[in-house]
Amino acid sequence: MDADVRLTGTVRAGCREAAGFVRLDWVTGQLRAGARIDPFPGTLNLHPAGPADRAAWAAVRARTPDFRLVPPDPAFCSADAYRVRIGGVFAGVVVVPRVAGHPEDVVEVVAGMGLRGALDLAQGDALELLFPAPGNPRHRAVLFDLEGTLVDFQWDLERAEADLRRAVTALGIPPDRVAAQNYAGIRQRALEAAGSGALRQRIEAALRPIYDRYDLDAEQRWSLRPGARDTLAGLSRAGCRLALVTNIGRAGTDRVLGRLGLDQHLAAVVTRDDAPHLKPAGHGLEMALDRLGCPADEALMVGDSLADLGAARAAGVPVAVVSGGESVLRGLGPHRPDFVLDTLPDLLTVVLPPA
Ligand SMILES: [Mg+2]
Repeated sequence: MDADVRLTGTVRAGCREAAGFVRLDWVTGQLRAGARIDPFPGTLNLHPAGPADRAAWAAVRARTPDFRLVPPDPAFCSADAYRVRIGGVFAGVVVVPRVAGHPEDVVEVVAGMGLRGALDLAQGDALELLFPAPGNPRHRAVLFDLEGTLVDFQWDLERAEADLRRAVTALGIPPDRVAAQNYAGIRQRALEAAGSGALRQRIEAALRPIYDRYDLDAEQRWSLRPGARDTLAGLSRAGCRLALVTNIGRAGTDRVLGRLGLDQHLAAVVTRDDAPHLKPAGHGLEMALDRLGCPADEALMVGDSLADLGAARAAGVPVAVVSGGESVLRGLGPHRPDFVLDTLPDLLTVVLPPA
């Protein structure tokens, strides 16, 4: 029976031809369609490090690929693509050009971000790749954000942030400490400025009802994003464990999950009231993974905002962002996600094995 295959490779000098290949329109388009990767224009090339790694690489190449890159012009070479987890942190694909003379000992890794920079790799460094077993989901657990991801974005940000700023400055926090912060940063900065003790508790007590009020206001308008229920059901059926990690409080979260019938699919729900710090801190994700009994590198975070991206990176979890929520998440420079979803059901392509 096929199992996960682990392979350690050493970083070797890049190949300009491969970088050019990834930039081709048809290659970019098929990587987006086949793997929901918005590819960084370049590949990371690895050499299998030892005999066991060479055997692992041969075993991967003998598998049916996850999908194929097929050129519109038969004069170009085609390539096989295999899903891979990279260094226990990122996810991407390994591309094998099907062309005579292509060296067999080169493993070309394509990902949503520049891996050399993101993992601080130099020539000769070792990196572990994990090729999930072909019949299994590529991620054992999927952690979802709530607002903007499973439901549409309805929080009245402008009024809520004004109320939160007013409350913390009334308690003596200098206004400039929270001036440039969003709803999560206002709380974080105010608590940091307060240090420990009584003022901290007074800040928490003053902010909690404001957050709750705006949660319950938004809750009245929240509706499911297209395909949300079917996506959760499809992942559950495939054996994935699902959890929610949200900056919304417990009251609003429980109410909307019950109203929209999402609670049945979620094995863990971590809210603003449960985690010590809001996203983009990673605590909520770590709590959810702990409850699911799943290591970070076998999970996937799905969100719509920079807070989700930051929280996933803080917790060492690969991350997919879905368009049309809170933030514009294309072209983020070094802060690029592993996967870009146009719609929530695109997630099934990322997580489930090929039919
Ligand atoms: Mg969100």
